[in-house]
Formats: sequence, C-alpha cells, structure tokens
Amino acid sequence: MACFFAAELLNFLALATLQLDQGGIVSQLMVSISGIRGEIGSTLTPEVIHKYTAAFGSYVKGGKVILGRDSRVSGPFISNIVKGTLVASGCHVIDIGIVPTPTVQLEVEYHNADGGIAITASHNPIQWNGLKFMGSNGRFLAPEEADKVFEMADKSEFNYNKWSDLGREHLDAEAIARHIDKVLNINYVDKEALQKRRFKVVVDTVNGAGGVIIPELLKALNCEVVAINQEPTGKFAHTPEPLAENLKQLGDAVCSNKADIGFAIDPDADRCAIVDNQGVPLGEEYTLVIAVNLILMKKMGRVVVNMSTSRASEDIARYYNCMFMRSKVGEINVAEKMVELDAIIGGEGNGGVILPEVHLGRDAPVAVALTLQHLVEFGGTIRELRDSLPQYVMVKQKVNIEGLHPDNVLKAISEKHKAQKINFLDGVKIDFEDSWVHLRKSNTEPIIRVISEAPTETEAQELGAQFMKEISNL
Ligand code: MG
Repeated sequence: MACFFAAELLNFLALATLQLDQGGIVSQLMVSISGIRGEIGSTLTPEVIHKYTAAFGSYVKGGKVILGRDSRVSGPFISNIVKGTLVASGCHVIDIGIVPTPTVQLEVEYHNADGGIAITASHNPIQWNGLKFMGSNGRFLAPEEADKVFEMADKSEFNYNKWSDLGREHLDAEAIARHIDKVLNINYVDKEALQKRRFKVVVDTVNGAGGVIIPELLKALNCEVVAINQEPTGKFAHTPEPLAENLKQLGDAVCSNKADIGFAIDPDADRCAIVDNQGVPLGEEYTLVIAVNLILMKKMGRVVVNMSTSRASEDIARYYNCMFMRSKVGEINVAEKMVELDAIIGGEGNGGVILPEVHLGRDAPVAVALTLQHLVEFGGTIRELRDSLPQYVMVKQKVNIEGLHPDNVLKAISEKHKAQKINFLDGVKIDFEDSWVHLRKSNTEPIIRVISEAPTETEAQELGAQFMKEISNL
C-alpha cells in the first residue's frame, strides 16, 4: 500500500478524499496536524491544493505569507497555484524558492509574517507532495488552529478580493544565507574549533532541499565536503527516508573517501541521520541523543522528546540532573511542550533536533552543526562517541487487528499490564526497568504499531513479539 511511510504520518486528525490510483489501489489524501499530503495525479489535485490554500489565505486574513518548497518535480506547479490563490486572497507572498522546511519557519519570524507554507511531502517518495502550514510564530499550526483551517476548506469558507485589493508577490533569495548564519552563530557551536579540525564529511541530501544548504554550511565550517545526490532535482537517487536500509550509498562513500562522518538528510531537511567512520548507520535515534548530550554537558535545562523517542535521552537528562518530559508524537506537540517548560533542547527520535535558540522546529542543519561540535569536543571517532552514550535498540513493527476496534485493543492490553507503569498520553506506553513498548493505533489502516526498545536488539525484538502475540490473541 502506497500511502504509509512512518512516524510523521501517524498523527492524522481526519481523512479526506478517497480515490483509486492508476494501479487500482486506494490512495488517500492525508490531512494531519502538519498539513496535507497526497499523490500527484490522484489525491493531491489542483482543486485540493487551491481549496486548502484559499482557506489558509482567509485564515491569515490576507496577511504576509512565506512560501518555500522542497525540490520535488511537482513543486513548481503547486507553487504557482498556491501563489495565485494567496494573491487572490489579498496576501503578500514572499517566495523563498527551494529551501528546507525549517528555513520557511525561520523566515516567518524574520519577516514578521502572518504565516508560512512549505510545499513538501517530507520523506515520502517522489509521487507525493503536500502543504505544511505555519502560524505567525513560525511553528506548525497547533491542532486546534489546523482544524479551523481544514474546516474552512471543507466548508468553502474563504473569500477572494476584488481587483483593487489583490495581494502581491516578491522573491527573496537570501533565506538560505540567513539560515546558515543563524546556525553558525549557535552559542554551543565553536566555529573556530571546527574550522581548525577540518572534518572530512560526506553528505547525502537525496536530491532534496538539503542540497542547497548543508554543503554550504559544512564549507563555512571548513569541512572537506563530499556531497552525493546534491542536485535538488527532486528525482531522488534512492528511497528518501533516512532509515539505515536507505543509507548504503552514503556508507560506501564514507568508506571510500575515508571520511570522519556521513550525514543523510531527508528531502525537506528537517531530519538528519548519521553514518559512522566505518560507513555504519548510528541509527536515527542517535542524532537527537548526541544533541541532547552536547547541550546538557554545557548547560542545565529541560528536555522534551516525544513518546516514541529513545530512552537514551532520558538517561542523559537524569545523569545531568535535568528535568525530562515526553510529549505526544508530532513536531508541534514537542514544540508546544518545549514552550510550556522553557526547554533548552528537544526533538523527535527520527533524526529531528529542535534547538529553541534557533527556532522551535526540527532542523537538519542544526543537527549537523551540533553533531560536529560534539565530535570535535569528544576527540575520538563518531563510533566511539556513539559507544560512549547509553545503549538502546528500537524495533518498530505493526500488527493487523482487522475486525477489532483499535481502542478496545489498547484498553485490553493496558488492563493486562496495569501493574506496570503505563502512560496514555498517546496510545499506550508501558515502561519496564530498562525497556519499554509503545502501542499506537493508525487512523487509516486496521493495524496497531508496536514500537519496542531495550538494551539489545534481541531483547527489543522479543518484547515487541510478546505484545504482537498478545494483540493477535485477543
Ligand atoms: Mg521531513
């Protein structure tokens, strides 16, 4: 089934159109807290793009909107529809071109805009695209704000201006330079030390928007850069999600170039995964673990991660005697909890680092800079650095529950384990001495996702298998 690709798509609040794609498989327009996603030619049609954009244009009352896109081949036509619709709604559109999603967020703040739209389907394959909506604070819309926009779209509650009150558009080509500057000026990053160390770095931006920023950032840090799949053509050289199984080309390039480290960036550059000096992926969870360790080494403060993120960050926070909290899955949920607690670092285990000093959104350039900073301070190799951190392995599986109501499944399992420490914030999470399992329902498929973590892969597999069996036996 073409419509499911991991964590970022888990938070659907509603489902809209159902259509048959050319292969006869049901394809859905995904409507989630971070926006909409669909397949070009089936569910993400010009009409759908127009409807949601018009609703957003009215939601921001014809204000100033930052527009950026990743490199997908469908990006230009969507951008034209979005721009035209916003101008018809009276908006002043500032088009910043092909940029990472976090760059759009930063530019909303920089321009004091009323909102932002990133045209992207994040890590989804080439046939997908979508719109991510941001508010005037540069963060994704909060769930109730997103609901409002979707309701306005569904009820066609939007207006167009007459000829004399149309909006306008202009280009701003400086957004990437400002983003790089912001990262180079992070308090925790010692630019001179990094420039002196001159790391050899391979970066795979999978022909996405990362290609327009990460190599430049690395060069500014005087790294010796080997960029693969850098051209932002949108024709992804491999499956774009930065999971270990998609990083073989990067691993081989790190080995053949005898590089210090490799970075894999997803197409809209909010997620970053690391490959070690032997070409072996660290596991995407460890990007955030490294960032958390670096920040807490330097400063005491609060840490927020989502419910499915590795316990390694929790162990580190405890070691440094710092408060640690978990939020629901989804960038905006983490960001809002970070605001509430005035956290100094946070993010999601899928390679999404949030450093509030830059802004409250996942940011791959930030992750790259913090990783290199930790590596230069550590002095050894990236593998040795990873080995020095708390050791956990996470396993993600899913179990079919056709014929059962997912809420009843979760209730039955939580009843069975009520003697354990259970959290119901987002599905059911059961914590054990040195392991945990997180069960989440899907809003689009009759499945339960079973995420388990333990000190070794065997233990994590066994823990997951135990719960899969318990669910299957219901
Ligand atoms: Mg992404």
